[in-house]
Amino acid sequence: MHLDVDRDQLAAEIEELARISDAEAPAVTRIVFTPKDLEARAWFIARCKEAGLRVRQDPIGNIFARWTGSDPMAPAVATGSHIDAIPNAGKFDGVVGVLGGLEAIRSLQRSGFRPKHPIELLVFTSEEPTRFGIGCLGSRLLSGTMSPDAASKLIDRDGASLEEARGKAGLKGELHQVKLPEGYHKAFIEMHIEQGPFLEQQKISLGIVTKIAAPASLRISIEGTGGHAGAVLMPERRDALCAAAELILAIEGAARTSGATDTVATVGICEVFPGAINSIPSRVHLSVDVRDTNLERRDAVMRSIETARQTIATKRQVSIEQHLLNADPPADCDPAIIEALSQSCMTHKQPFIPMVSRAYHDSLFMSRIAPVGMLFIPCRSGYSHRPDEYASPEDIQRGVTILAQALATLAS
Ligand SMILES: [Zn+2]
Repeated sequence: MHLDVDRDQLAAEIEELARISDAEAPAVTRIVFTPKDLEARAWFIARCKEAGLRVRQDPIGNIFARWTGSDPMAPAVATGSHIDAIPNAGKFDGVVGVLGGLEAIRSLQRSGFRPKHPIELLVFTSEEPTRFGIGCLGSRLLSGTMSPDAASKLIDRDGASLEEARGKAGLKGELHQVKLPEGYHKAFIEMHIEQGPFLEQQKISLGIVTKIAAPASLRISIEGTGGHAGAVLMPERRDALCAAAELILAIEGAARTSGATDTVATVGICEVFPGAINSIPSRVHLSVDVRDTNLERRDAVMRSIETARQTIATKRQVSIEQHLLNADPPADCDPAIIEALSQSCMTHKQPFIPMVSRAYHDSLFMSRIAPVGMLFIPCRSGYSHRPDEYASPEDIQRGVTILAQALATLAS
């Protein structure tokens, strides 16, 4: 099959979509269900219709653009990603998988290929957590990972509920209709920029993902006793920040000694009250993110944190409460999809490297209901979520070719 990926048209479309933004170029800001997000969706749907795809949106706004196969009842082979963008982001995160997926379909159409299985292009709603505080909203609901009830209770910073916001966006139907039936997809492949520097360092343009790491996050509150920094003597102290310091080092230690380099733990937020130079810290809030590709290992770190919490609370006579925000299990990519992507690279004489996705993506949630795979392309210096995020047209073209070939294999 001769695949002729139109690099220039794809680059022009990425530029065009980037201009639908609440931030000035080159930055992109596109938050779910804002007028710019709705404009971007309408623009994208028009491009899909031009390509002859049948388009529908579900009640949360996930977009499905379908190329009917010769066996229309067969489970679909899907690709896609997201087009929402955090404030002051770049133009490639998510977009490469969406517009690249569209170009993969168009290049297959031009080649004369006709799929047996339908090929479906997906755009997931609110991959970024910016507005409702939870990422991958669309794919969580599609996969049944989040209940419609929990989703309907979500409220944004301005007090608007998800229900109101999606109503204003013109989305009809009930959230319980979003979950896809078992077996709906035969395969799902997400192409994405790496968002890290590994491929660039290895000087290899394609990464085939074998595992997707998943985070567990905790919010920890430590209550000690405040007081005057001069008047309260050391034996009397129950300093919340000193307890937090011990706990932070224990969290770091638990990840460092897990026995695998895939284990990472980060305390990204430390809020100290009252926050005065001459006042003993009475209260500290910590936010903790623990990730691994292996669930047992990650949960072992979580248990170590729990043990440290109890030991430090007793030793320092402070109260330490912890609240589990989320704990999504990691995912393995499907061997048949990894094989289809690898074969595709070999057919097109493109070197590739197996790798782990250390950020999480909609694919993590899709893996609950479908076999998934991911294809990474490099981004300059590993930069992402910033205006100077960049992927070259050549790398994108290469990725689209490999994606198209793999979709054809799986849909035949
Ligand atoms: Zn993304």
